[in-house]
Amino acid sequence: MKKTIRDFELVSKKVIIRCDFNVPMENGLITDDNRIIESLPTIMYAVSKGAKVILMSHLGRVKEPKDKKIYSLKPVAEKLSSLLDKKVVFVPETRGSKLEQAISNLQNGDVLLMENTRFEDLNGKLESTNDPVLAEYWASLGDIFINDAFGTCHRCHASNVGIASRIPNGVGFLIEKELKYLLEAVENPKRPFTVILGGAKVVDKISVIENLASKADYILIGGAMAYTFLMASGLPVGKSLVDKDSLDFCRRVLDKYPDKIILPIDGVYSDSLDGKGRIKECFLSDVTYDDIGVDIGSSTIKVFKQYIDDSNTIIWNGPLGLFENEKFANGTKKIMQVLAESGKTTIIGGGDTAFAASKFCFKERFTLVSTGGGASLELLEGKILPGVGVIDDK
Ligand code: AMP
Repeated sequence: MKKTIRDFELVSKKVIIRCDFNVPMENGLITDDNRIIESLPTIMYAVSKGAKVILMSHLGRVKEPKDKKIYSLKPVAEKLSSLLDKKVVFVPETRGSKLEQAISNLQNGDVLLMENTRFEDLNGKLESTNDPVLAEYWASLGDIFINDAFGTCHRCHASNVGIASRIPNGVGFLIEKELKYLLEAVENPKRPFTVILGGAKVVDKISVIENLASKADYILIGGAMAYTFLMASGLPVGKSLVDKDSLDFCRRVLDKYPDKIILPIDGVYSDSLDGKGRIKECFLSDVTYDDIGVDIGSSTIKVFKQYIDDSNTIIWNGPLGLFENEKFANGTKKIMQVLAESGKTTIIGGGDTAFAASKFCFKERFTLVSTGGGASLELLEGKILPGVGVIDDK
Protein backbone atom coordinates (compact mmCIF):
# COMPACT_ATOMS: atom_id res chain seq x y z
CA MET A 1 0.00 0.00 0.00
CA LYS A 2 1.30 3.40 -0.95
CA LYS A 3 1.47 6.29 1.52
CA THR A 4 -1.28 8.83 1.02
CA ILE A 5 -1.74 12.46 1.97
CA ARG A 6 -3.59 11.22 5.09
CA ASP A 7 -0.34 9.74 6.42
CA PHE A 8 1.28 13.16 6.95
CA GLU A 9 1.04 15.95 9.50
CA LEU A 10 0.47 18.86 7.13
CA VAL A 11 0.09 21.91 9.34
CA SER A 12 2.63 24.65 8.46
CA LYS A 13 4.30 22.29 5.98
CA LYS A 14 5.07 23.34 2.42
CA VAL A 15 3.20 20.65 0.51
CA ILE A 16 3.88 20.31 -3.22
CA ILE A 17 0.90 18.71 -4.97
CA ARG A 18 1.47 17.53 -8.54
CA CYS A 19 -1.93 17.92 -10.19
CA ASP A 20 -3.15 17.13 -13.68
CA PHE A 21 -4.40 20.49 -14.94
CA ASN A 22 -3.83 19.47 -18.56
CA VAL A 23 -7.23 20.85 -19.58
CA PRO A 24 -8.46 21.52 -23.12
CA MET A 25 -8.21 25.23 -24.00
CA GLU A 26 -9.50 27.37 -26.85
CA ASN A 27 -8.38 30.98 -27.24
CA GLY A 28 -7.20 31.11 -23.64
CA LEU A 29 -10.48 29.72 -22.29
CA ILE A 30 -10.84 26.37 -20.53
CA THR A 31 -13.40 24.30 -22.45
CA ASP A 32 -13.65 21.43 -19.95
CA ASP A 33 -12.74 21.92 -16.28
CA ASN A 34 -13.25 18.29 -15.24
CA ARG A 35 -9.59 17.72 -14.39
CA ILE A 36 -9.52 20.77 -12.15
CA ILE A 37 -12.68 19.62 -10.38
CA GLU A 38 -11.21 16.12 -9.88
CA SER A 39 -8.18 17.63 -8.13
CA LEU A 40 -10.22 19.61 -5.59
CA PRO A 41 -10.60 16.96 -2.83
CA THR A 42 -6.82 16.65 -2.34
CA ILE A 43 -6.22 20.41 -2.50
CA MET A 44 -9.10 21.15 -0.12
CA TYR A 45 -7.87 18.51 2.31
CA ALA A 46 -4.38 20.06 2.37
CA VAL A 47 -5.88 23.54 2.88
CA SER A 48 -8.13 22.30 5.69
CA LYS A 49 -5.12 20.78 7.47
CA GLY A 50 -3.24 24.09 7.40
CA ALA A 51 -0.65 23.23 4.74
CA LYS A 52 1.08 25.84 2.59
CA VAL A 53 -0.01 24.41 -0.72
CA ILE A 54 2.24 24.60 -3.79
CA LEU A 55 0.56 23.26 -6.92
CA MET A 56 2.39 22.08 -10.05
CA SER A 57 1.10 20.80 -13.37
CA HIS A 58 1.95 20.54 -17.02
CA LEU A 59 -0.32 21.82 -19.78
CA GLY A 60 -0.01 20.75 -23.40
CA ARG A 61 3.22 20.07 -25.26
CA VAL A 62 5.64 22.97 -25.09
CA LYS A 63 8.03 22.81 -28.03
CA GLU A 64 8.85 26.41 -28.97
CA PRO A 65 8.85 29.73 -27.11
CA LYS A 66 5.57 30.83 -28.72
CA ASP A 67 3.80 27.87 -27.01
CA LYS A 68 4.29 29.71 -23.71
CA LYS A 69 1.46 32.05 -24.60
CA ILE A 70 -0.98 29.22 -25.40
CA TYR A 71 -0.07 26.98 -22.49
CA SER A 72 0.18 29.32 -19.51
CA LEU A 73 -1.57 27.98 -16.39
CA LYS A 74 -2.89 31.44 -15.50
CA PRO A 75 -6.48 30.62 -16.63
CA VAL A 76 -6.30 27.47 -14.47
CA ALA A 77 -5.32 29.56 -11.42
CA GLU A 78 -8.34 31.80 -12.03
CA LYS A 79 -10.69 28.83 -12.46
CA LEU A 80 -9.29 27.12 -9.40
CA SER A 81 -9.68 30.26 -7.37
CA SER A 82 -13.38 30.48 -8.23
CA LEU A 83 -13.93 26.74 -7.58
CA LEU A 84 -12.16 26.91 -4.20
CA ASP A 85 -13.71 30.28 -3.44
CA LYS A 86 -10.27 31.34 -2.31
CA LYS A 87 -7.34 33.32 -3.66
CA VAL A 88 -4.84 31.23 -5.62
CA VAL A 89 -1.47 32.97 -5.97
CA PHE A 90 -0.26 32.45 -9.53
CA VAL A 91 3.48 32.69 -10.15
CA PRO A 92 4.31 32.93 -13.86
CA GLU A 93 7.68 31.24 -13.29
CA THR A 94 8.94 27.70 -12.84
CA ARG A 95 12.03 28.73 -10.85
CA GLY A 96 13.83 31.75 -9.44
CA SER A 97 13.60 34.37 -6.72
CA LYS A 98 10.03 35.49 -7.53
CA LEU A 99 8.77 31.95 -7.03
CA GLU A 100 10.86 31.40 -3.90
CA GLN A 101 9.68 34.70 -2.40
CA ALA A 102 6.01 33.88 -3.16
CA ILE A 103 6.44 30.50 -1.47
CA SER A 104 8.05 32.01 1.61
CA ASN A 105 5.12 34.49 1.85
CA LEU A 106 2.57 31.64 2.08
CA GLN A 107 0.56 31.39 5.28
CA ASN A 108 -1.04 28.16 6.52
CA GLY A 109 -3.94 27.26 4.23
CA ASP A 110 -2.74 29.44 1.32
CA VAL A 111 -2.59 28.05 -2.22
CA LEU A 112 -0.02 28.86 -4.90
CA LEU A 113 0.16 27.60 -8.48
CA MET A 114 3.42 27.87 -10.35
CA GLU A 115 3.67 28.11 -14.14
CA ASN A 116 3.49 25.10 -16.50
CA THR A 117 6.24 22.59 -15.64
CA ARG A 118 6.76 21.87 -19.33
CA PHE A 119 8.09 25.39 -19.88
CA GLU A 120 11.27 23.78 -18.56
CA ASP A 121 11.31 21.62 -21.68
CA LEU A 122 12.37 24.71 -23.62
CA ASN A 123 15.65 24.58 -21.66
CA GLY A 124 16.51 21.16 -23.11
CA LYS A 125 13.61 18.93 -22.09
CA LEU A 126 14.56 19.27 -18.43
CA GLU A 127 11.08 18.36 -17.14
CA SER A 128 10.41 15.47 -19.53
CA THR A 129 13.82 13.88 -19.06
CA ASN A 130 13.68 14.14 -15.26
CA ASP A 131 16.76 16.35 -15.11
CA PRO A 132 18.37 15.79 -11.68
CA VAL A 133 19.29 19.46 -11.11
CA LEU A 134 15.76 20.64 -11.85
CA ALA A 135 14.24 17.85 -9.73
CA GLU A 136 16.56 18.72 -6.83
CA TYR A 137 15.58 22.40 -7.12
CA TRP A 138 11.83 21.72 -7.22
CA ALA A 139 12.13 19.28 -4.32
CA SER A 140 13.93 21.99 -2.29
CA LEU A 141 10.79 24.16 -2.52
CA GLY A 142 8.67 21.83 -0.37
CA ASP A 143 8.67 19.62 2.72
CA ILE A 144 6.27 16.94 1.43
CA PHE A 145 5.37 15.83 -2.11
CA ILE A 146 1.93 14.52 -3.04
CA ASN A 147 1.37 13.06 -6.49
CA ASP A 148 -2.22 13.36 -7.64
CA ALA A 149 -1.67 13.48 -11.41
CA PHE A 150 -2.64 9.96 -12.49
CA GLY A 151 -2.56 10.97 -16.17
CA THR A 152 1.24 11.42 -16.06
CA CYS A 153 2.11 8.47 -13.80
CA HIS A 154 3.33 6.45 -16.80
CA ARG A 155 5.97 9.15 -17.39
CA CYS A 156 9.25 9.61 -15.54
CA HIS A 157 9.37 13.39 -15.25
CA ALA A 158 11.10 15.81 -12.88
CA SER A 159 7.75 17.02 -11.49
CA ASN A 160 6.65 13.53 -10.44
CA VAL A 161 9.42 10.91 -10.12
CA GLY A 162 12.16 13.54 -9.71
CA ILE A 163 10.64 15.31 -6.70
CA ALA A 164 9.19 12.15 -5.13
CA SER A 165 12.57 10.45 -5.01
CA ARG A 166 14.00 13.35 -2.96
CA ILE A 167 11.49 14.28 -0.22
CA PRO A 168 8.82 12.49 1.88
CA ASN A 169 5.97 11.59 -0.43
CA GLY A 170 2.55 10.04 -0.91
CA VAL A 171 -0.38 9.98 -3.32
CA GLY A 172 -3.48 12.16 -3.33
CA PHE A 173 -7.09 11.00 -3.29
CA LEU A 174 -7.37 10.80 -7.07
CA ILE A 175 -4.46 8.40 -7.53
CA GLU A 176 -5.51 6.47 -4.44
CA LYS A 177 -8.92 5.85 -6.05
CA GLU A 178 -7.46 4.93 -9.44
CA LEU A 179 -5.10 2.40 -7.85
CA LYS A 180 -7.74 0.97 -5.55
CA TYR A 181 -10.13 0.11 -8.35
CA LEU A 182 -7.86 -0.50 -11.33
CA LEU A 183 -5.26 -2.60 -9.50
CA GLU A 184 -7.83 -4.45 -7.44
CA ALA A 185 -9.83 -5.27 -10.57
CA VAL A 186 -6.80 -6.62 -12.39
CA GLU A 187 -5.10 -8.42 -9.49
CA ASN A 188 -7.99 -9.62 -7.38
CA PRO A 189 -11.25 -9.24 -9.29
CA LYS A 190 -14.63 -10.35 -8.07
CA ARG A 191 -15.36 -13.04 -10.65
CA PRO A 192 -16.57 -13.56 -13.26
CA PHE A 193 -14.25 -10.85 -14.58
CA THR A 194 -14.97 -9.54 -18.07
CA VAL A 195 -12.86 -7.16 -20.16
CA ILE A 196 -14.39 -5.22 -23.03
CA LEU A 197 -11.92 -4.02 -25.64
CA GLY A 198 -12.59 -1.80 -28.64
CA GLY A 199 -11.02 1.07 -30.50
CA ALA A 200 -9.14 1.20 -33.74
CA LYS A 201 -5.82 -0.62 -33.50
CA VAL A 202 -5.03 -4.07 -32.12
CA VAL A 203 -1.34 -3.23 -31.96
CA ASP A 204 -1.96 -0.61 -29.23
CA LYS A 205 -3.63 -3.21 -27.05
CA ILE A 206 -1.49 -6.30 -27.63
CA SER A 207 0.15 -5.97 -24.21
CA VAL A 208 -3.24 -5.46 -22.52
CA ILE A 209 -4.60 -8.60 -24.17
CA GLU A 210 -1.45 -10.55 -23.27
CA ASN A 211 -1.71 -9.50 -19.62
CA LEU A 212 -5.46 -9.84 -19.19
CA ALA A 213 -6.20 -12.92 -21.29
CA SER A 214 -4.93 -15.21 -18.54
CA LYS A 215 -6.62 -13.20 -15.76
CA ALA A 216 -10.04 -12.42 -17.23
CA ASP A 217 -12.86 -14.92 -17.63
CA TYR A 218 -14.06 -13.30 -20.85
CA ILE A 219 -12.78 -10.71 -23.31
CA LEU A 220 -15.49 -9.11 -25.45
CA ILE A 221 -14.06 -7.47 -28.54
CA GLY A 222 -15.75 -4.72 -30.55
CA GLY A 223 -14.72 -1.59 -32.47
CA ALA A 224 -12.44 -1.84 -35.48
CA MET A 225 -10.28 -4.23 -33.44
CA ALA A 226 -12.93 -6.88 -33.92
CA TYR A 227 -12.41 -7.00 -37.71
CA THR A 228 -8.78 -8.00 -37.30
CA PHE A 229 -9.87 -10.84 -35.01
CA LEU A 230 -12.72 -11.79 -37.39
CA MET A 231 -10.36 -11.85 -40.38
CA ALA A 232 -7.92 -13.96 -38.35
CA SER A 233 -10.80 -16.41 -37.79
CA GLY A 234 -11.45 -16.54 -41.55
CA LEU A 235 -14.71 -14.57 -41.35
CA PRO A 236 -15.76 -11.88 -43.86
CA VAL A 237 -14.99 -8.25 -43.00
CA GLY A 238 -15.46 -6.49 -46.37
CA LYS A 239 -13.49 -3.23 -46.40
CA SER A 240 -13.50 -2.77 -42.63
CA LEU A 241 -10.40 -1.38 -40.94
CA VAL A 242 -8.00 -4.29 -40.35
CA ASP A 243 -4.66 -4.11 -38.58
CA LYS A 244 -2.88 -6.59 -40.89
CA ASP A 245 0.36 -6.62 -38.86
CA SER A 246 -1.59 -7.98 -35.88
CA LEU A 247 -3.27 -10.91 -37.68
CA ASP A 248 -0.74 -13.48 -36.46
CA PHE A 249 -1.08 -12.24 -32.91
CA CYS A 250 -4.89 -12.53 -33.14
CA ARG A 251 -4.64 -16.09 -34.48
CA ARG A 252 -2.40 -17.09 -31.58
CA VAL A 253 -4.76 -15.55 -29.01
CA LEU A 254 -7.80 -17.20 -30.59
CA ASP A 255 -6.02 -20.59 -30.61
CA LYS A 256 -4.95 -20.26 -26.99
CA TYR A 257 -8.22 -18.89 -25.57
CA PRO A 258 -11.00 -20.15 -27.88
CA ASP A 259 -13.72 -19.87 -25.22
CA LYS A 260 -12.58 -16.59 -23.72
CA ILE A 261 -12.45 -14.29 -26.72
CA ILE A 262 -15.99 -13.26 -27.68
CA LEU A 263 -16.32 -11.65 -31.11
CA PRO A 264 -19.30 -9.83 -32.69
CA ILE A 265 -21.81 -11.96 -34.58
CA ASP A 266 -23.36 -9.06 -36.47
CA GLY A 267 -22.62 -5.40 -37.19
CA VAL A 268 -23.61 -2.09 -38.70
CA TYR A 269 -21.97 -1.57 -42.10
CA SER A 270 -21.72 1.38 -44.46
CA ASP A 271 -19.89 2.30 -47.64
CA SER A 272 -18.44 5.45 -46.09
CA LEU A 273 -17.22 6.53 -42.68
CA ASP A 274 -18.89 9.96 -42.67
CA GLY A 275 -22.42 8.66 -42.08
CA LYS A 276 -23.64 9.94 -45.46
CA GLY A 277 -23.53 6.63 -47.35
CA ARG A 278 -25.84 3.61 -47.26
CA ILE A 279 -26.13 1.94 -43.87
CA LYS A 280 -27.21 -1.64 -43.14
CA GLU A 281 -27.21 -4.01 -40.22
CA CYS A 282 -26.50 -7.69 -40.91
CA PHE A 283 -24.97 -10.93 -39.65
CA LEU A 284 -21.39 -11.72 -40.64
CA SER A 285 -22.54 -14.17 -43.30
CA ASP A 286 -24.19 -11.30 -45.21
CA VAL A 287 -21.19 -8.96 -45.23
CA THR A 288 -20.22 -8.06 -48.81
CA TYR A 289 -16.83 -7.05 -50.20
CA ASP A 290 -17.53 -3.29 -50.08
CA ASP A 291 -19.03 -3.14 -46.55
CA ILE A 292 -17.18 -1.15 -43.91
CA GLY A 293 -17.91 -2.13 -40.31
CA VAL A 294 -18.77 0.91 -38.20
CA ASP A 295 -20.52 -0.50 -35.11
CA ILE A 296 -21.55 -3.74 -33.42
CA GLY A 297 -25.06 -4.96 -34.28
CA SER A 298 -28.11 -5.55 -32.09
CA SER A 299 -27.55 -9.33 -31.76
CA THR A 300 -23.97 -8.71 -30.59
CA ILE A 301 -25.30 -6.19 -28.07
CA LYS A 302 -27.56 -8.95 -26.68
CA VAL A 303 -24.67 -11.43 -26.50
CA PHE A 304 -22.39 -8.89 -24.79
CA LYS A 305 -25.21 -8.03 -22.35
CA GLN A 306 -25.43 -11.68 -21.28
CA TYR A 307 -21.74 -11.81 -20.45
CA ILE A 308 -21.97 -8.50 -18.56
CA ASP A 309 -25.04 -9.69 -16.62
CA ASP A 310 -23.13 -12.83 -15.60
CA SER A 311 -20.04 -10.87 -14.48
CA ASN A 312 -19.15 -9.13 -11.25
CA THR A 313 -16.24 -7.01 -12.49
CA ILE A 314 -16.09 -5.34 -15.89
CA ILE A 315 -13.25 -3.26 -17.30
CA TRP A 316 -13.78 -1.46 -20.60
CA ASN A 317 -11.18 0.18 -22.83
CA GLY A 318 -11.94 1.38 -26.36
CA PRO A 319 -15.25 2.32 -28.02
CA LEU A 320 -17.26 -0.39 -29.81
CA GLY A 321 -17.91 1.66 -32.94
CA LEU A 322 -17.23 4.99 -34.58
CA PHE A 323 -19.18 6.59 -31.74
CA GLU A 324 -18.17 10.16 -32.67
CA ASN A 325 -20.85 9.87 -35.39
CA GLU A 326 -24.32 9.58 -33.84
CA LYS A 327 -25.35 7.06 -36.52
CA PHE A 328 -22.62 4.67 -35.42
CA ALA A 329 -22.84 5.23 -31.67
CA ASN A 330 -25.60 2.76 -30.79
CA GLY A 331 -23.37 -0.15 -29.69
CA THR A 332 -21.17 1.98 -27.44
CA LYS A 333 -24.21 3.76 -25.98
CA LYS A 334 -26.26 0.59 -25.36
CA ILE A 335 -23.39 -1.29 -23.73
CA MET A 336 -22.68 1.77 -21.55
CA GLN A 337 -26.30 1.68 -20.45
CA VAL A 338 -26.06 -2.05 -19.65
CA LEU A 339 -22.97 -1.38 -17.54
CA ALA A 340 -24.49 1.66 -15.84
CA GLU A 341 -27.56 -0.37 -14.82
CA SER A 342 -25.62 -3.51 -13.86
CA GLY A 343 -24.81 -2.65 -10.23
CA LYS A 344 -21.44 -4.40 -10.73
CA THR A 345 -17.90 -3.06 -10.40
CA THR A 346 -17.55 -1.14 -13.67
CA ILE A 347 -14.30 0.50 -14.70
CA ILE A 348 -13.83 2.68 -17.74
CA GLY A 349 -10.26 3.28 -18.88
CA GLY A 350 -8.87 5.11 -21.87
CA GLY A 351 -9.42 8.61 -23.21
CA ASP A 352 -12.00 7.80 -25.91
CA THR A 353 -14.12 5.55 -23.74
CA ALA A 354 -14.07 8.08 -20.90
CA PHE A 355 -15.04 10.79 -23.38
CA ALA A 356 -17.93 8.62 -24.64
CA ALA A 357 -19.07 8.08 -21.03
CA SER A 358 -19.27 11.86 -20.55
CA LYS A 359 -20.84 12.44 -23.95
CA PHE A 360 -23.63 9.93 -23.30
CA CYS A 361 -24.09 11.13 -19.68
CA PHE A 362 -23.16 7.84 -17.98
CA LYS A 363 -19.97 9.08 -16.31
CA GLU A 364 -21.40 9.30 -12.78
CA ARG A 365 -22.80 5.79 -12.97
CA PHE A 366 -19.58 3.79 -13.19
CA THR A 367 -17.41 2.70 -10.28
CA LEU A 368 -14.41 4.43 -11.84
CA VAL A 369 -13.83 6.44 -14.98
CA SER A 370 -10.06 6.60 -15.14
CA THR A 371 -8.54 10.05 -15.56
CA GLY A 372 -5.46 8.70 -17.35
CA GLY A 373 -5.71 7.15 -20.83
CA GLY A 374 -2.07 6.07 -21.28
CA ALA A 375 -1.55 5.44 -17.56
CA SER A 376 -4.61 3.21 -17.21
CA LEU A 377 -3.62 1.26 -20.33
CA GLU A 378 -0.15 0.64 -18.89
CA LEU A 379 -1.67 -0.52 -15.59
CA LEU A 380 -3.86 -2.94 -17.54
CA GLU A 381 -0.71 -4.13 -19.32
CA GLY A 382 0.61 -5.11 -15.90
CA LYS A 383 3.35 -2.48 -15.83
CA ILE A 384 4.47 -0.58 -12.76
CA LEU A 385 3.91 3.12 -13.41
CA PRO A 386 7.06 5.14 -12.60
CA GLY A 387 5.02 7.92 -10.94
CA VAL A 388 3.45 5.36 -8.59
CA GLY A 389 6.42 3.00 -8.18
CA VAL A 390 8.53 5.85 -6.74
CA ILE A 391 6.01 6.60 -3.95
CA ASP A 392 6.93 5.20 -0.53
CA ASP A 393 5.01 2.27 0.90
CA LYS A 394 3.22 2.63 4.21
P1 AMP B 1 -8.21 3.61 -29.90
O1 AMP B 1 -7.40 4.87 -29.77
O2 AMP B 1 -7.46 2.50 -30.55
O3 AMP B 1 -8.88 3.23 -28.61
O4 AMP B 1 -9.36 3.96 -30.93
C1 AMP B 1 -10.41 4.83 -30.66
C2 AMP B 1 -11.07 5.16 -31.96
O5 AMP B 1 -11.51 3.95 -32.56
C3 AMP B 1 -12.29 6.04 -31.83
O6 AMP B 1 -12.03 7.29 -32.41
C4 AMP B 1 -13.36 5.27 -32.61
O7 AMP B 1 -14.12 6.09 -33.47
C5 AMP B 1 -12.52 4.31 -33.44
N1 AMP B 1 -13.33 3.17 -33.89
C6 AMP B 1 -14.15 2.40 -33.17
N2 AMP B 1 -14.77 1.51 -33.97
C7 AMP B 1 -14.32 1.74 -35.22
C8 AMP B 1 -14.62 1.14 -36.49
N3 AMP B 1 -15.49 0.16 -36.61
N4 AMP B 1 -13.95 1.62 -37.56
C9 AMP B 1 -13.06 2.63 -37.44
N5 AMP B 1 -12.76 3.22 -36.28
C10 AMP B 1 -13.38 2.78 -35.17
